[in-house]
Amino acid sequence: MHFSELNLSDPLQQAIRAVGYQETTPIQTQAIPPGLQGHDIIGCAQTGTGKTAAFLLPAFARLLQNHNKTKNPRLVVLAPTRELVIQVSEEARKLAAHTALRTVAVYGGANIGQQIDKLRRGVDVVIATPGRLMDHMRRKNINFKDLQVLVLDEADRMLDMGFLPDIKQIVGRMPRRRQTMLFSATMPPPVLGLARQFQQDPVKVEIDIAQPPEAIRQALYPVPKHLKTSLLIALLEQMEVNSMLVFTATKQEADIVTRKLSEAKTSVACIHGDFKQRERVAALEGFRSGKYQVLIATNIASRGLDIEGISHVINYDVPEHPEDYIHRIGRTARADADGDAITLVTVDDEAMIYRIEYLLGRKIERKTLAGFDYDVPTPSWAKPSAKALLRQATQSRSLADRWRSMGGGRRR
Ligand code: ADP
Ligand code: MG
Repeated sequence: MHFSELNLSDPLQQAIRAVGYQETTPIQTQAIPPGLQGHDIIGCAQTGTGKTAAFLLPAFARLLQNHNKTKNPRLVVLAPTRELVIQVSEEARKLAAHTALRTVAVYGGANIGQQIDKLRRGVDVVIATPGRLMDHMRRKNINFKDLQVLVLDEADRMLDMGFLPDIKQIVGRMPRRRQTMLFSATMPPPVLGLARQFQQDPVKVEIDIAQPPEAIRQALYPVPKHLKTSLLIALLEQMEVNSMLVFTATKQEADIVTRKLSEAKTSVACIHGDFKQRERVAALEGFRSGKYQVLIATNIASRGLDIEGISHVINYDVPEHPEDYIHRIGRTARADADGDAITLVTVDDEAMIYRIEYLLGRKIERKTLAGFDYDVPTPSWAKPSAKALLRQATQSRSLADRWRSMGGGRRR
């Protein structure tokens, strides 16, 4: 559908032209019309499919229609991380460029005084992490009595991060008569529970169960744990890498890998929760502009970030949840280009690989890197205990059985 076919007012149409959108994405095609009619919406579509505009446009349209004069916010968007709050705010700023709507981004690690000033002067739109919004509620900086629209963005991740109690308290202060839109990349039962609790008769909009685009070449590289970094460096040297996003499980690991890559003369940046906001923005911008070839990120820091045109996604560590695997590798091969998704696999990861392959409905090819010395002995400090090995063997066996009994290996 072309954006001009949507019943949007001129200021919004103008902004859409300015950002260069022409055709709506599938989630936008399905969510915007009922959103404009004021329905509650449950939207499920994978990362990078344009969910932000799918809720901002109907929300803005409604604010522009009922223009009651108030200093209180009329739209609140909750998102799990400050990066996402910033990203949604940027999109909001662009889409509201030709309107008089005032927006504030509310998140931790940023100057709270400035946020308070803006809230006091009056805003129409608040885009916030639940934690920081709760701070403002406690300080009585915010009043929801004029709220018209609530958006829960990345609802699955907000629940994973333990924001449910905060969300309940926040929504508890909001008028019952409101439009509530909930967006999520996955719809596990807890997210549906959230919808039941906070929505009325929602229109469900679901764009396919997340499956990675066919254009992504996926591979597993089994490797002894102590050789992971060397293998990563060897892969970097052998492949034609435009831009590489590397996921690690922990901040510590992110730091170590970043240091080793930069010792190997790679231009590399890193983002995780210990970095200041300013540093994270600089790292992301440097990666987007091509100043850094490699970006190392922890799962939470990277989730939902809009980074395009990545040639390689590397799971340095296997993700904690199987869905994360699909989200992560979805960062490559956007816009019909192809890309590589490589996962380093140690013996400890076999159980999770079974679960990922089950979710994908197929096996992922296992590869070895020609010329790489896999036989460098384990340093004594890195040897797993006999107990750990035993625990692991039993774990993988039971999962393997489960996989077989589920008819594993066949494409669903
Ligand atoms: P999601 O929230 O689903 O992960 P985003 O809303 O962040 O996705 O959008 C991903 C990218 O796609 C952004 O760069 C956004 O500007 C762009 N985008 C969104 N809608 C369109 C569209 N209709 N046409 C072209 N690009 C779009
Ligand atoms: Mg999003």
